[in-house]
Amino acid sequence: TAKPKIVLYWHRTDLRLHDSPALNAALSLNPTTFIPIWTWDPHYVYKSRVGPNRWSFLLESQKALSTSYSNLNPRQQLWLIREAPQSVLPKLWNAWGVTHLVFEKDEDAYARERDGAVVRLAEEAGVEVIVKSGRTLFDVDEIVRKNGGKPTMSMAQVEKAVEKIGNGVPERPIDAPSSIPDPLTRDEMDLKGVKHDGRGDVGSKSDPGTDMNADHRSTTDKQYAGIMGPKGDFGVPALEEIGIDPAEVQTPHRGGENVALELLAGYIADEEYIGRFEKPNTSPAAFEPQSTTLLSPHLHFGTLSVRKFWWDVQDVMEKRKKAKKSNASIPTNLPGQLLFREMYFAAHAAVGEPFCRTYGNPMVRFIDWHLQSKTPEDIAHGEGEGKLYEVDSDEAEVWFLRWKEGRTGFPWIDALMRQLKQEGWIHHLGRHSVACFLTRGGCYVSWERGAEVFEEMLIDHETACNIGNWMWLSCTAFFAQFYRCYSPIAFGKKWDPEGNLIRRYCPELAKFDKKYIYEPWRAPIADQRKWGCRVTGDGSSSTNEDGKIYPKPMFDFDERRTICLDAMKNAYHVGLHGNDKEVKDGSWRKA
Ligand code: FAD
Repeated sequence: TAKPKIVLYWHRTDLRLHDSPALNAALSLNPTTFIPIWTWDPHYVYKSRVGPNRWSFLLESQKALSTSYSNLNPRQQLWLIREAPQSVLPKLWNAWGVTHLVFEKDEDAYARERDGAVVRLAEEAGVEVIVKSGRTLFDVDEIVRKNGGKPTMSMAQVEKAVEKIGNGVPERPIDAPSSIPDPLTRDEMDLKGVKHDGRGDVGSKSDPGTDMNADHRSTTDKQYAGIMGPKGDFGVPALEEIGIDPAEVQTPHRGGENVALELLAGYIADEEYIGRFEKPNTSPAAFEPQSTTLLSPHLHFGTLSVRKFWWDVQDVMEKRKKAKKSNASIPTNLPGQLLFREMYFAAHAAVGEPFCRTYGNPMVRFIDWHLQSKTPEDIAHGEGEGKLYEVDSDEAEVWFLRWKEGRTGFPWIDALMRQLKQEGWIHHLGRHSVACFLTRGGCYVSWERGAEVFEEMLIDHETACNIGNWMWLSCTAFFAQFYRCYSPIAFGKKWDPEGNLIRRYCPELAKFDKKYIYEPWRAPIADQRKWGCRVTGDGSSSTNEDGKIYPKPMFDFDERRTICLDAMKNAYHVGLHGNDKEVKDGSWRKA
């Protein structure tokens, strides 16, 4: 008789059943037993910054997948394992007699290291491992190879590289399976006798020094759950098990493969929208509905296959072409947007771990954010050429915090940052505005600090895209036109002269006349009183004895723009990169 095939399918970046090359490969083995799992990874649980909105999106996506499995086979579910993969997987294949381990390839620097370790352990244990690419349109390692082994730094390079892989056309998506084999029996699945090495359980305490969410989880030790969870059923944890108060979840955006497919189908049915989509013409001020697809969190969690997205769009564009209707073209159209995603994934894949920071990173321009070349006094007196000053770091820290909390006193920036905090998503050009403002076009604070805030707040946080775009906006890589700066007043006004986005997310300004909505500090005091909000203070409080208040702008933007531009000119003149010797040994700072 043939040996039983006990296949462990490890879901990570692919919380879906449709178009998953890895899942397809697993099921093509004709398993006698099939066990789809998710393991909590302490790297993401503890080392990353994950806000309540993204947690909630993840749990919803897991629940949806678990339900889809149960719908196909009432004995099935997504089996949630509460322990780190490196320590728990060997226990699983011992306990369950696993013969095959299958998962989707993940090119993130940390994931590669983790997966390398897991593959070695599997080989030692005689478990066969199958890994398939499916998170991107093309295998990004292949893109890197076709780009001469170098990081892809422009769309032209990506287009050229993918042209050499299947003529730039990704493979067609695969249908979702129509049946799923059984898992083991409940008794055989039981892991009560297996020693639990706490580190991966969602509720255990971690090093508070590195754990941004320590306060969320500090009460959850008592909910210590073991590998199988508090009910012993490998169920998807409730927010409370993770230590998150459900009231903290404010995002209206829902997770799950069913939600993603419905959203995509809605866009695809609107052929005009698909054919005419041009990113630069979509408004950053639009909300309910937003002007772009908002499919990014689904691509991040793999609840939507990027190849399905690409092909569904492509099919509409082909149809329009035949009907002699025009389509927008790359890079501003939707396929172009997906290629930007490939560009950042491939750049990250080529550089590896240093991609995420300045230090040691060969592709990023080194900017000493502690030095600026002019003071406001220099500007007033037309002086300061060639001099360098230490930035007042206390002042910069206050600006950073006010930016993060949406109380800079510039309503356009504050509305966007509050939308980000509440909902976990803002439009691409909104991200441009706030990122430019924090770095080279306002506060002169390092892009790495902004990227950390985005990492915590975004529901679509994707390391490669987040880091890559922050480098772009700070003109440290990918883009160099630092003299092109976003005004926190004129840019928003162009898109939204009525200030509707501001009225929505800074409700204290809702009654201001549109003449002052972008610059409320200019409104006469009598009008401020009439409109029910005084512009005063630093935003640390939202009311005073007179009622509602909104902060004064934290600096003179025009003055800051001049200072930043000058400092950027200096940094470009110095011309250091993240892995230059001077940067690595710190001599540039000492000089
Ligand atoms: P659409 O315009 O509908 O585009 C469709 C898809 O194309 C997106 O879902 C996304 O997967 C991809 N895409 C579009 N633009 C970009 C881009 N510039 N870079 C990479 N992929 C793109 N995107 C993330 O997915 N995760 C991040 O963590 C992230 N961080 C960012 C940080 C900054 C500072 C900036 C400026 C941009 C960041 N982006 C990030 C890129 C972009 O803003 C979002 O992908 C986009 O706004 C998502 O909305 P959407 O799905 O409606 O996009």
